[in-house]
Amino acid sequence: MRTLIVNGAECEPYLTSDYRLMLEKSDEIIKGALLLGRILEVEDICIAVEDNKPGAVELLLAKVSGPLRVKKLKSFYPQGGEKQLIKSVLGREVPRGKLPFEAGAVVQNVATVFAAYEAVFLGKPLYERVVTVTGDCLSNPANLLVRTGTPISALISFCGPLKEEPHRIIIGGPMMGITQAGTDVPVTKTTSGVLVLGKKSGRILEESACIRCGRCVRVCSTGLLPCMLGAAAERGMLEEAKRHGLTDCLECGACTYVCPANRRLVQYIKRAKAEAAR
Ligand code: SF4
Ligand code: SF4
Repeated sequence: MRTLIVNGAECEPYLTSDYRLMLEKSDEIIKGALLLGRILEVEDICIAVEDNKPGAVELLLAKVSGPLRVKKLKSFYPQGGEKQLIKSVLGREVPRGKLPFEAGAVVQNVATVFAAYEAVFLGKPLYERVVTVTGDCLSNPANLLVRTGTPISALISFCGPLKEEPHRIIIGGPMMGITQAGTDVPVTKTTSGVLVLGKKSGRILEESACIRCGRCVRVCSTGLLPCMLGAAAERGMLEEAKRHGLTDCLECGACTYVCPANRRLVQYIKRAKAEAAR
C-alpha cells in the first residue's frame, strides 16, 4: 500500500457537510489522517478537495506537512467516486473487477477520518455526525451536528418553517440519495444529507423506452454501457447484468440524470446489486 487518499471532494450537489467539517475540524482531520496512515503503513497521505471549497483548501494547505499533502481537484460529478478519485490523484486506473488497494491506494472519507480521530484520541464512539439539511422547501437550511437515531422529521422542523409542502424527501444527495416514503426515519452514521424538495425541483418524471441516444454511455466514468446494464438489471437478468459490469457500477446516478427517456437506470442497478448479494 502506498497512498491513503482522504476524500474531501464532496461532489454531490446540495451537500456541504464535509466542507463544514473541514473548515471547523481541520486539525482533528489531519491527526486522524496521520493515525490511519500509520496503521496502513503508507508513504503518502493526500487530502483531496474540489476547487469549489477554497476555504478548506487554503486552511488545510497552511497546516499540512510531512507525509501529508493537499490536492485541489477540478469540481465535477462524480469526482468523489472512489475509482475516479484514485485516477484524479494518482493518475492510475483501478481495473474493472479490482479493488482500490490493488492500485496501491485506500480511500477514506473526511468524516470517517474525523470519527477515527475521535475514537482513538478521545475514546468517543460514533454516535453523532454532521448532516446537511437543505432544499427549496426549507426557510433555514443548515449543517447540523446530530445524534444518530434522531428522526429526520426533527431536523426538518428545526430548519423550518416550510415554505411549501415537500414533494420529495431524499436522504443523501440528489444523485445517489434515496427517496423516502416519510419522515419517521432515523439519522444513521451514513446520513450525509436530508433534502426537502418542492414541486419544481423534486418532481419525478415519467419513464419511457430507451431511444438509444448513447448519452448514458458518454457520462459513465466507469466505462460501462448503462443502457444495457440497466435493461438487464430491470429484467432481473443478473448474469447478463454482471457481464455488463454490475459490480463495477459506482451508483453515481449520472446515467439516470442525463437520460432523456427518464430511465431509472441506477435504481434498477441498485436493486440488482442487492439481489446479487443475497
Ligand atoms: S450509475 Fe450509471 S453512470 Fe454511474 S457508474 Fe453506474 S452505470 Fe455508470
Ligand atoms: S441515455 Fe437513456 S435513452 Fe439514451 S441510450 Fe441511455 S438509457 Fe437509452
